[in-house]
Amino acid sequence: SAVTPNMLPWSSFYDSEVPLSMHYPKLPIFELFHKSVRDHADKTALVFFGKSITYEELGRQVNSMVNGLKNSGIQPGDRVALLLPNCPQYVISYYSILMLGATVVPLNPLNTEKELLYIVRDSSIRAAISLDLLAGKLETVRDRCRENGEYHLLEYTFYTSLKDFLPLPLNILYPLKQKLDPNAKKRLAGARQLKELLAVKAETHTPPEIDVHKDMAVIIYTGGTTGKPKGVMLSHYALVVNASHCKTWVHMSSADSLLAVLPLFHGFGMSVCMNATMLSGAQAILLPRYNEEELLKAIHRFSPTLFAGVPTMYIGLINHRQLGRYNLSSLNGCFVGAAPLAPEVKRQFEILTGSQLMEGYGLTEAVTAKTVNPFKGVNKTGSIGIPMSDTIMRVVDMETGKKELPPGEIGEIILKSPDIMLGYYNKPEETAAAIRDGWLYTGDMGYMDEDGYFFIVDRKKDMIITGGFNVYPREVEDVLFQHPAVQEACVIGIADDYRGEAVKAFIVLKEEKNAEADEITNFCREHLVPYKVPRHVEFCQALPKTAIGKVLKKALREQEENV
Ligand code: AMP
Repeated sequence: SAVTPNMLPWSSFYDSEVPLSMHYPKLPIFELFHKSVRDHADKTALVFFGKSITYEELGRQVNSMVNGLKNSGIQPGDRVALLLPNCPQYVISYYSILMLGATVVPLNPLNTEKELLYIVRDSSIRAAISLDLLAGKLETVRDRCRENGEYHLLEYTFYTSLKDFLPLPLNILYPLKQKLDPNAKKRLAGARQLKELLAVKAETHTPPEIDVHKDMAVIIYTGGTTGKPKGVMLSHYALVVNASHCKTWVHMSSADSLLAVLPLFHGFGMSVCMNATMLSGAQAILLPRYNEEELLKAIHRFSPTLFAGVPTMYIGLINHRQLGRYNLSSLNGCFVGAAPLAPEVKRQFEILTGSQLMEGYGLTEAVTAKTVNPFKGVNKTGSIGIPMSDTIMRVVDMETGKKELPPGEIGEIILKSPDIMLGYYNKPEETAAAIRDGWLYTGDMGYMDEDGYFFIVDRKKDMIITGGFNVYPREVEDVLFQHPAVQEACVIGIADDYRGEAVKAFIVLKEEKNAEADEITNFCREHLVPYKVPRHVEFCQALPKTAIGKVLKKALREQEENV
């Protein structure tokens, strides 16, 4: 593995405790999970609403479930979907499916029937594990497949309830708004229960031979923000490498506990909150949904040492009126990524909590994080940090995608690392466009500074061209975040007969704050050249977001087209 050329300039900023190049065990990820089970048997692995599960117990449940799945007819090579929020059953199912030599397809529980049907067909999903609440939706998808003669799809479905792991009725602990819909109840009659799989004797199971470099461990669907979702195929090796990076760069150890509110069905949650945490022998405090109040209460009550979130969560925290009432002093490291973080949000979070916020960057095509601001090095506001071990990043010209650009110049970011995807499932053309000569083309525009730190200016697709000038919406959004009345902002280009495109800002105001459109544009004029100043300002209650909290610019553009 190569020491990257762009590691040299930033050596003085580097976290000297992190190796530039690492050794990665050539083992399936579940072997490393079981190593943690052996090494940390008595330690708490998971906390779910105050109920703790030790590593030993978790390992036993995984061994039971592997046998349960096998007895039910699930075979190596099958694709098994997980349609679950963060809960212990998620973690147990994930490692059991992998141990069986099958592939996990993590799905978003909020996906519509149409979206689910598309994915089930696209990757030929044979079995699914889900929540009782979602049975109405999943069984309807299964009916659709059967009506079409596709009996091999969703041949098996297993259901679990969040209550299965709780000592108290759920409604006392958690005000889950969604009640079991009558349709789901009907569909559940006679359905198989996950409990039955977990009750199977935890006999030793010999996993099939696994090629860690070639076999698909997971297929994660991505691209919800841009078009039809594509299945990103990741090998066991990619999962091991990425988890090793996250664990090492975050300095995670068995003494840590991490608040796991990021969805485990997204690469960021899967790698940081589950794989890296389990491989460190640390504790994952699982929260099934995001809500500022619940998040603050969980930090106050369970005292996590680490927290990984997306910008939306940090925006929510800094604007929470009673932030001061909660004790957040247990937090030793806070990490953010997956979407642009306005420097103003980072500054305010650090002032209000006294805790450093470290930004990183990544994408599902490389599991997740590929850069981060070093924990024990220089943390630059506005920067996504430096490439992780064995990761080479370059900025290349947009036209040919080949010429490397010098520091300070904006181009497309490309990268090479040992955890890049095997490709998009059944999409050779898209794969060939994304991976060229071993380089992953990220579709993100950015630059590197003289110290080797990287900055994202925007996604290639989001750039606005107005009257011949390029505008990176991100720059305008960062300014809008500085306005005292603005809680959230999003900028897109809308059709304009004269300029081609015009800059439009969508703004969510802070509670009890007011501002007129003129005030916002005047504020922008003080900070930006005139062509970047939004010509249109619209105030809204909330911005459309994906499950992990990325603003859905596509939805805003469609809304504009239909006006
Ligand atoms: P996903 O595959 O869903 O994780 O999305 C990956 C995309 O999220 C990247 O290609 C970037 O456009 C965006 N992204 C991730 N981290 C950051 C960050 N720190 N700043 C800006 N954009 C980011």
